[in-house]
Amino acid sequence: MDKTSRVIHLGCYKIGGDNPPQLQTMITTPLSDIKKAKDEVMRVWEMGCPIVRSAIRSISELDALAELADHFPGALIADIHYDYRLALGALDTKVKGIRINPGNIGGEERVRAIVEKAKLQKDVAIRIGVNAGSLEEDILKKYGGPTGEALVESTLRWTNFFEKELNFFNFKVSAKSSSVTESVKACLAIRKASDVPIHAGITEAGGGRAGIIKSSAGMAILFHHNVVDTFRVSLTAPVEEELRVGFQILKSMGRLNAGGEIISCPTCGRTHGALFAFAHELEELFDKWQWWKYPSLKVAVMGCEVNGPGEARDADIGMALGHGTALYFEDGDVVKRFSSHREAFDFLVLAVKNRWNIL
Ligand code: SF4
Repeated sequence: MDKTSRVIHLGCYKIGGDNPPQLQTMITTPLSDIKKAKDEVMRVWEMGCPIVRSAIRSISELDALAELADHFPGALIADIHYDYRLALGALDTKVKGIRINPGNIGGEERVRAIVEKAKLQKDVAIRIGVNAGSLEEDILKKYGGPTGEALVESTLRWTNFFEKELNFFNFKVSAKSSSVTESVKACLAIRKASDVPIHAGITEAGGGRAGIIKSSAGMAILFHHNVVDTFRVSLTAPVEEELRVGFQILKSMGRLNAGGEIISCPTCGRTHGALFAFAHELEELFDKWQWWKYPSLKVAVMGCEVNGPGEARDADIGMALGHGTALYFEDGDVVKRFSSHREAFDFLVLAVKNRWNIL
């Protein structure tokens, strides 16, 4: 889609317009365990994610929210449902974003109170987080359920309210469902109707393989149509896994001009040796090193002398297994021949470490 979003400010981070899509996550620790919550946000920060959300459930957690916002070097977003006083209280802390679902916050006047207070701080953004699980009754009735159209109507209703009634523009929206098709439909329609930045994602996608596939399928379409300003991969999994998948989606969609890429063949009857094990070992090392933090590097681990050399030659570093032998490639040329698969693989790992200056 040609139409781009407008730019908003979330603390020192610019979102929307030509700014790169920003990966976000949400901590799983409740604020009642502030020590653990602080540890978790710092793990997220160290993985290279500067925007993180925390749920706040009651007024009694406001002090912990303030402590967390003071502690986190990036932008903390308070995630609020039902009680608008939590949003007002959060705006007295150093949080840089408030996520509300206006449909469950108790009416327009309460939303107005939140927005008027947020307006006083120029770098605080709001997210209108519309969710299929908590749509307004009249909209559910009109569409007979939480369809993509229903998500769009709710989102645009509140977008209009923010812009036309409250003259507030420093906000983004999300319209999420656990259905890939309905979420995609909603995001595309919202972008067509408005320049408000979109926080994308497939909510409650699940865990493991299914969650990763649903998130990847939805995000790939949305990235392709250029409608992602920020996104979260919502998995029933620790934040680390969400972020690893998120960075992989960015890399796969060509939205990350850095990081490693592993090319490994699916194996077949021609495969020599332990290709599965080598590819798996390399993947684990990449994750341990947090591959997205390093300069671009394509590494190929291939199983035979038929298609292997072509792919290995095309990579920055590669190896192709033979019958008890292995060819090792760098920048398109064979630079070494090994008579042991293991030695070739260890040499390849060392070469990656050297290129990335990993000790
Ligand atoms: S590279 Fe060789 S071993 Fe691997 S799948 Fe292709 S033909 Fe089979």
